[in-house]
Amino acid sequence: MFKRAIAICCLLSICLVSVPVEAGKIKSILKGRHRTGQPGQGYDDTMNVPGQPWGVHDKERPEPWVITPPTASTQEKSGTAPSDAVVLFDGSDLSHWQGGGEDAKWIVKDGYMEVNGTGSIQTRESFGSCQLHVEFATPVEVKGNSQGRGNSGVMIMGLYEIQILDSFENRSYSDGQAGAIYGQYPPLVNASREPGKWQVFDIVFEAPEFDEQGELVKPAHITVFHNGVVVHNRATSLGQVAHQDPPQWKAHAAKLPLTLQDHGNPVRFRNVWIRPLTGYDSER
Ligand code: MG
Repeated sequence: MFKRAIAICCLLSICLVSVPVEAGKIKSILKGRHRTGQPGQGYDDTMNVPGQPWGVHDKERPEPWVITPPTASTQEKSGTAPSDAVVLFDGSDLSHWQGGGEDAKWIVKDGYMEVNGTGSIQTRESFGSCQLHVEFATPVEVKGNSQGRGNSGVMIMGLYEIQILDSFENRSYSDGQAGAIYGQYPPLVNASREPGKWQVFDIVFEAPEFDEQGELVKPAHITVFHNGVVVHNRATSLGQVAHQDPPQWKAHAAKLPLTLQDHGNPVRFRNVWIRPLTGYDSER
C-alpha cells in the first residue's frame, strides 16, 4: 500500500507542477494547462442537457482547462504554439523526427527545415485524433509544372495526405492540388500564396476506428484551413492515400506517427505543432 502511495505521488509530481501563483487560484496543472480552482457557478436543480450527465448550467460541471493561445506568424517571423501543444518543430532542431529508422537528415537553417532528397520524415511519437498546425513554403525558384512543382505533403498517421504543392498559377489535377485530400477531394477554393511565401495548414483530424476484425467502424473526418480559409469542412475520408487508384481502408493502430513527405522538391517547413483532441469535460 505504502509503495503504491509512493508510486502515485511520483506520478502526480510528473503531471502536477506547482507554480508561484496566488493561493487557492490554481487547483491543478498539467503540461501547459491549468484550472483556476475558483468555485463553480450555476445551478444544482436544473434538468439535464439532453444526452448528457450534466444539468443545464450545472455548477459541478468540470471547468475547461486554461491554456495560453498561440501567437500568429508573419512572413518574417514564426509565431508560437499554444501552451498545451506538442511542439514538433520550433525552428531549432529535428529531435522529434526520424527518417527510415534513423535521425532525420533534412536541412535545418534560419528557423526552418527543408526537404533535401533524404526521404520523408516521421515523428518519433504517435498520434490519433488531433489538431495540427503546419507552416510551409514552396521553392522561390519555380521549376517544373503540375505535380512536379513544390510537391510535398502532410501525411496524417502516415496514411492520410493533405497535399502540399505550388498551386499558384500552376494547374494540376484538382484532387491533387495544394490543400487537396489527395486523390479524394479538391480544396473548396485555391487559397495558395505565391512561391516562397509562408503558408499555413490548420487541420482537425478525427482518426478512423476499426473493430477487432479489422472492419471500418468509423471513417476519418478531416477539416482543413489553408491560410485561414476553410478548404475541407469535416470531409469524410474514403480511405488511405493512393496514386492513380481509388482509396481503400486498411485497419491500423489507433495512433501512428505523422509524416512530412519528401517528393523531391525543396519545400520548407516551420512552426509545426500538434494537440491531441480530447472530449468535453476532459480530465486531461
Ligand atoms: Mg504530395
